[in-house]
Amino acid sequence: MIRGSTELVGIVGSPIAQVKSPENFNAWFAEHGRDVAMIAIDMQEPALDAFLAALRGWRNLRGCVVTVPYKQVLSTRLDAVSERSAALRSVNVIRREADGRLVGDIVDGEGFLNAARKHRFDPSGKRALVVGSGGVGSAIAYSLCQGGVSRLAIADLSAERVESLCALLRQAFPAIDIGGAYASLADFDLVVNASPVGMGDTGELPLPQSLLETLQPHSLVADVVTSPEITPLLAFARRMGCTVQTGPEMAFAQVGNLGHFMGVTPLEI
Ligand code: NAD
Repeated sequence: MIRGSTELVGIVGSPIAQVKSPENFNAWFAEHGRDVAMIAIDMQEPALDAFLAALRGWRNLRGCVVTVPYKQVLSTRLDAVSERSAALRSVNVIRREADGRLVGDIVDGEGFLNAARKHRFDPSGKRALVVGSGGVGSAIAYSLCQGGVSRLAIADLSAERVESLCALLRQAFPAIDIGGAYASLADFDLVVNASPVGMGDTGELPLPQSLLETLQPHSLVADVVTSPEITPLLAFARRMGCTVQTGPEMAFAQVGNLGHFMGVTPLEI
């Protein structure tokens, strides 16, 4: 129940009815007896500046998760952002400091790694392929580099997007082998689909079947797509003997990253 003493966090986007964060957070707050609640906020774009002014003055609000379509537009309007948010020009969470300053970060990639650690995947020294270099793919790629991968390959239908992400990452992480062609998946410790391919019931694979047949059982194969839970890629990878990580695993693991950043949950939940 929301009381006078309840502290609030929000999730802002438009539309908002489809998001799962309020259920995930409010269930966790209730189970752990915390006097905190998450509210979903469907905000129109022209009101964003007024919304940020309200957040700065909102003393019982600890922070706000940011979702589509405001991840990019809000990244330039906060009082401070993390190095990776500045590089990727994107935020998915805002913390309100006690003095009202708003600080942003993007933790999609950290949520992905949080889930991967549960499969005993430590990025340090590993070779990874990320398919899809949009919002989620670039955040995962950045976090893999921060986690110390030795090699990172990126694939996307847009060659221009791949090149600009590679250039940004090479500048931030000059010691890592970034980009480059690959003829087989056998050398990768991690293959992750960070594109929407496989969503719904299209049955589509994000990579050619002939390439997927080169997967080796030592690789972790992950998908960010949340529905279906077992995408065509993950079903294929299982048949090849690989460990798989689903989109819902990443979404759930990220609750800890988002909540920890806002100061309302521990990192591991
Ligand atoms: P986006 O539109 O920013 O980027 C998608 C990228 O995929 C684009 O660059 C596009 O060119 C590329 N792409 C499309 N088809 C491709 C193909 N066949 N091969 C290679 N690249 C291809 O989207 P986004 O915000 O990065 O979201 C991507 C997916 O992640 C969505 O399905 C979204 O639902 C999902 N998502 C999952 C979580 C989670 O926690 N599991 C969180 C956020 C988003």
